[in-house]
Amino acid sequence: MFGKIVRKIILFTAASASFICISCSSPALKSREAEASFIAMDTIMSITCYGKESADAVSAAKEEILRLDNLLSAESENSEVSLINSAGSGVLSEDGRKLMDFSLDIFSKTDGAFDVTVYPVMKLWGFTEGKLNVPTKSELNEVLNYCNSDNIRFDRDSGEIVLSDGQGIDFGGIAKGYASDRLMEIFEAYDIDSAIVTLGGNIQTYHTKPDGSEWNVAIRNPFDDAEEYVGSLRVSNLAVVTSGAYERFFVDEASGKTYHHIIDPSTGYPADKGIASVTIVSSSGILADALSTACYVMGIDNSIKYWHNKDDFDFIIVTSDREVYITKNISKKFTPSDSFNNVHIVQ
Ligand code: ADP
Ligand code: MG
Repeated sequence: MFGKIVRKIILFTAASASFICISCSSPALKSREAEASFIAMDTIMSITCYGKESADAVSAAKEEILRLDNLLSAESENSEVSLINSAGSGVLSEDGRKLMDFSLDIFSKTDGAFDVTVYPVMKLWGFTEGKLNVPTKSELNEVLNYCNSDNIRFDRDSGEIVLSDGQGIDFGGIAKGYASDRLMEIFEAYDIDSAIVTLGGNIQTYHTKPDGSEWNVAIRNPFDDAEEYVGSLRVSNLAVVTSGAYERFFVDEASGKTYHHIIDPSTGYPADKGIASVTIVSSSGILADALSTACYVMGIDNSIKYWHNKDDFDFIIVTSDREVYITKNISKKFTPSDSFNNVHIVQ
């Protein structure tokens, strides 16, 4: 029963995400515009391209997403990830190697806040199959033993991977970001003038809008209230990736409590550090995706500390009490909505 509710919520949020990019469509540009919208990776995706070869670029982009979905989904029986999860070992493809290499790097940089071995925990909560339930503490403690990327044996060159007993991997926190980076490479190969892609809560822009102005990306309101957006951000050539509890969650009938899908690997419970949503802005889609999940787990203070030591991303974080924290590099590009005017610029 909850499975259906969750699916509905996913579709609803994804659909709303696909309308938030303001693209341009003058008659002259229309002839060079191509678009596609479809469901993949459990969400709605939309691709809009401008250029001489826009139709070919869009179909190549769609094919690439479907290929990656088949390869990486932990839920579809014959994917590379599923086969490795059930056998406990295997050899990763070139895409799988890049994702694993990146995951292990982010795992160590974020002190384990981002951990691809979260799969058994996701499974126990029922997020993988839609059989949602609140596990007991002892069930959680048992699966937490398996949740530690340090226990993976992985050889980058051969792609060989060996999981420890009970372990499983889940690229759900970075697959869409990896896919959107791949789409930017496809747009380059097709010599596309401008493009924007929306893969669920992941948006990535290629160049500026066709008229040379920046894309306007709206940041979704993580609260269930009247104001539609937190605000809008002007960007070009950047990924804007938002993670929020609203993407996938269920309400436990017994307690009335809400549980969502971003897991704190140190507890096995949904992350609960006072954050409503994290938007990461970066030229790398995969980095933005990983950090939107990791910062959600780390909380505002640790996210700020993390940002101070890095120069490859910016963020907009909305706390549970509606405060907005935005890093200084992008603050001038952001216009908050009326009900999100409590904005702190992080220096
Ligand atoms: P969404 O997929 O809804 O856009 P995220 O990018 O935040 O949201 O990714 C959440 C997904 O990442 C979960 O569905 C799960 O597959 C995986 N995941 C959950 N918690 C973690 C974590 N701490 N580290 C790595 N992956 C996680
Ligand atoms: Mg993510």
